[in-house]
Amino acid sequence: GGWLIVRSALKMKTERIAIVGGGLVGSLEACFMAQRGYQVDIFEIRGDIRDAEIVRGRSINMALSTRGRAALKKVGLEQEVMSEGIPMYARMIHDLDGKCRPIPYGTEKTQYIMSIDRRRLNEILLTGAEKQKNVNIFFDCKIIKCDAETGTITTLKDGIEEDRQYDIIIGCDGAYSLVRRQMMRSTKMDYSQVYISHGYKELIMPAKGHNTFPMPKNYLHIWARNTFMLIGLPNPDGSFTMTMFMPFDIFETIQTENDLKNFFQDKFPDALDLIGWKDLCNSFFSGPALPLISVKCTPHHSKSNKTIILGDASHAIVPFYGQGMNCGFEDCTILDSLLDKYNDNFVKAFAEYSQNRCKDTHAIADLSMLNYIEMRASVNSYLFLLRKQVDKI
Ligand code: FAD
Repeated sequence: GGWLIVRSALKMKTERIAIVGGGLVGSLEACFMAQRGYQVDIFEIRGDIRDAEIVRGRSINMALSTRGRAALKKVGLEQEVMSEGIPMYARMIHDLDGKCRPIPYGTEKTQYIMSIDRRRLNEILLTGAEKQKNVNIFFDCKIIKCDAETGTITTLKDGIEEDRQYDIIIGCDGAYSLVRRQMMRSTKMDYSQVYISHGYKELIMPAKGHNTFPMPKNYLHIWARNTFMLIGLPNPDGSFTMTMFMPFDIFETIQTENDLKNFFQDKFPDALDLIGWKDLCNSFFSGPALPLISVKCTPHHSKSNKTIILGDASHAIVPFYGQGMNCGFEDCTILDSLLDKYNDNFVKAFAEYSQNRCKDTHAIADLSMLNYIEMRASVNSYLFLLRKQVDKI
């Protein structure tokens, strides 16, 4: 904490920065820019999640990896986040016959990814940003216009529209980014988006009794069934957040409780026992399957050099590599290093950022698509091959 304050006190600057979106990437980017000494305003359409009710057993978690951790470390928040996470050392593959086998992420005990509660992570980042006196957060405040050339944003709060002028606008407003859309009007931006044929649903596997895990805790559990899959990540309260990825047309075949029971008995019998019929039914039918979008664009900054987009706004990727947030966090680290390199010259930093970062984010987008096949199918065929080898011996 003390270190953060010292760094910003040393370098206080007069330039004003607007960050659109106080999600994971926006709140982290605010920490970085505040530490560089800028006057930072964050605009977030939602209310303050720190005031929202906590519903036990409803957490959504994410895999935090080295890239994400490096960024958190740079703003002094790594330890706080890590202390609340659960290390996952291997994937645990659940075969149809109920047998389980681990595939480790690495050969060392130090090679693991962390299961982190998404909400807690966002809370820690918002609090980290707010601790610095040069950061203001505007909740329940929607950005309805953004002029990337002049640095003007229009906010809508409590029914009142207001234009605000900034030196720099940073769009961290997610996959459906308004900043990106408006930037495309004045900047020659190549852009593509793809919806994949699979959607997802989140289900909860409850803790057994008080904080007792129903499955081995330190794994990312995978039920790979070739065309679809189920995964489970552990939560500190002993539950697992399960995500089912499946083509929409298969989701549509499951309309009644009977359809659901037959499907799970057939494809995920052990998971059905562990989730429990009532909880499965409640969470499965609580909402529709959600779509997955992949977005690529080049460049990530505007012609005027006043606006840049980071995180999902610039590279929404399918979640099968568990790298969307990690990659967004790495965006912040890279931009910070370039501002160091060019002595806070945004023109030079933005140019080099787009030059290198666009192709890297396209690569992770492609790898994430490939890893979907790996996760739902190849883990099976790999084991199949391995067993064949073992049979030969
Ligand atoms: P978002 O999280 O989308 O945040 C954008 C913010 O901007 C929101 O708070 C929104 O309210 C706000 N906003 C939007 N428009 C406006 C506006 N006009 N005015 C004001 N505010 C606005 N990544 C990983 O690294 N590991 C994982 O394990 C992982 N698992 C995933 C699982 C699933 C099922 C999915 C769908 C994604 C997963 N991801 C994972 C990806 C990760 O969720 C995203 O990469 C990450 O949330 C991106 O953060 P962001 O801040 O860029 O965007």
